[in-house]
Amino acid sequence: MLVIGAGIIGTACADALAAEGMAVTVLEREAVGSGASAAGMGHLVVMDDNPAELALTSYSLALWRQLAAADPAPHEYSRCGTLWIAADDEEMAAARDKQVCLSAHGIACELLDAAALYAHEPQLRPGLCGGLCVDADAIVYPPKSAALLLARAQRRGAQMRNGEALAITGHGVLLAGGAELRADKVLVANGSASLQLLPELPIRPKKGHIVVTDRYPGLISHQLVELGYIKSAHAADGDSVAFNLQPRPTGQLLIGSSRQFDVTDKAVEPAILARMLAHAANFVPALAGLNALRCWTGLRAASSDGLPLIGPHPSRADVWLATGHEGLGITTSLASAQLLAAQIAGKPAQIPIAPYLPARFEQLGRHHE
Ligand SMILES: Cc1cc2nc3c(=O)[nH]c(=O)nc-3n(C[C@H](O)[C@H](O)[C@H](O)COP(=O)(O)OP(=O)(O)OC[C@H]3O[C@@H](n4cnc5c(N)ncnc54)[C@H](O)[C@@H]3O)c2cc1C
Repeated sequence: MLVIGAGIIGTACADALAAEGMAVTVLEREAVGSGASAAGMGHLVVMDDNPAELALTSYSLALWRQLAAADPAPHEYSRCGTLWIAADDEEMAAARDKQVCLSAHGIACELLDAAALYAHEPQLRPGLCGGLCVDADAIVYPPKSAALLLARAQRRGAQMRNGEALAITGHGVLLAGGAELRADKVLVANGSASLQLLPELPIRPKKGHIVVTDRYPGLISHQLVELGYIKSAHAADGDSVAFNLQPRPTGQLLIGSSRQFDVTDKAVEPAILARMLAHAANFVPALAGLNALRCWTGLRAASSDGLPLIGPHPSRADVWLATGHEGLGITTSLASAQLLAAQIAGKPAQIPIAPYLPARFEQLGRHHE
């Protein structure tokens, strides 16, 4: 199997496939974990917008606990929990719904009234309604996790190769430079760039900005996310910002995030950055006085139904997909890799695979070769 892309998805898949005893080569055009996996926040979060998302995120969180919690330091794993913030009554109702849903699936969470919210995070602005604390959510440092997964895959026999796939040939890939790299199967796991190899994919790039601050240990303890995020993150078009704040184990803070459909220029855009920071400071006023060290952007690969594509391409022989993970690819990487490896090895998967199969998109069923 030739895996195109050494982001968190490609490396997790390489590791899972090598664990099944398959011969694996990973092809990467830049550095390991340098794409969206370096740009993202590394928040490992249970999401429950639909049953398939809940199944995939909660399964993957359990796999992260096995992998990283056993030896947290190399992954910079920290179980900080998520605090979902309700700014008004409508969002408080959403917090209650979330509590009911997560509790029904055995995920521990605590509904907070306003007083309990401020006891958890005193830096939040006055006037908020409350929130929901999901204790087992965590964070990792994704580029390091990608490197660790690749290293384990290599210990299991996987090969690493630098190079860029320009096209899928039917017998492998055409490399930049003109050579063909032959492989019996190809796994397209190169995130938003998967569109360049397979333009028929139902995926759009969604650009996001992040800012990292200087070190302010103890200022914030949980990953903070506004419940209004659910509304803006699922907008089908246009630009949006949502409050998302992460305390790194170093004491630095990651401030996010923005969402812009179909923007592929990775330049930082001052206007959207200013909008994002003003929105964040509206939740935590102290942010306005902190030093920002750096800002950057990354491209999410957003599928048209919000779920990743994991499985065989329905109309290209020997082409497999692990792409379209949008804003949850760090969280869902380990489960995605297990679901892919189970399909290729012909073994039963731990959760039903149907919601993630590429064949759910009719447009992929047409012949493309
Ligand atoms: C701002 C932002 C915040 C985010 N926050 C979170 C978060 O908190 N939690 C979470 O779970 N997810 C988050 N995400 C989403 C997450 O980062 C992605 O879903 C995930 O990184 C996707 O991983 P990937 O391996 O598919 O893609 P990538 O990390 O982009 O990896 C693809 C790799 O393929 C290589 N490549 C591309 N084309 C070729 C080619 N033709 N030949 C060879 N190599 C190629 C690239 O160089 C790259 O290394 C965030 C994303 C963004 C942008």
